[in-house]
Amino acid sequence: MDRKNSHIGDLSTHFWKFELRCPCPKCRRKLVRVSSLLLFKLEMMITIIDSGLDFHRPVIVLSGNRCEEENRRIGGFPGSKHIPDPDGEAVDIKVNGITPIKLGLIAEEVGGLRIGIAKWGIHVDVKTPSPSKFWVYINNKPIYSAKIENKSLLNFYRIMMGKEGENR
Ligand SMILES: [Zn+2]
Ligand SMILES: [Zn+2]
Repeated sequence: MDRKNSHIGDLSTHFWKFELRCPCPKCRRKLVRVSSLLLFKLEMMITIIDSGLDFHRPVIVLSGNRCEEENRRIGGFPGSKHIPDPDGEAVDIKVNGITPIKLGLIAEEVGGLRIGIAKWGIHVDVKTPSPSKFWVYINNKPIYSAKIENKSLLNFYRIMMGKEGENR
């Protein structure tokens, strides 16, 4: 494929390897490995985001693949789905002009994603949700949903944000 003459990413329609590469110097020449199911779900999210718009709102990748060292360095969860095994199954994203919770609700609409809501954006991965499907980062710590809250991200988010407010 002639990369120069194409607007289509080398991972999927809208995503490029350089965006999802582990940012550490050691991984510069390593293969970028991303789950095709995750990419498909991200593309579905873009379809929803761009529906009714006459322009494309870019999805900004904040973190894709991470090697073990990089994951430790940034304080990621030890068994993080960002670590390719063999494929990376997680991505942290943001979209300018869309709040993290709105973006999370779009991910929920797509389905089959675990969703973490943060101030900087959202984490999504395609790991089987056992037991938690959603989480909210409060002071950088994930607070996980339980079985009942797994049914609705919005409900869970409201419960969590209410609790955060009470603690202030
Ligand atoms: Zn690395
Ligand atoms: Zn993440």
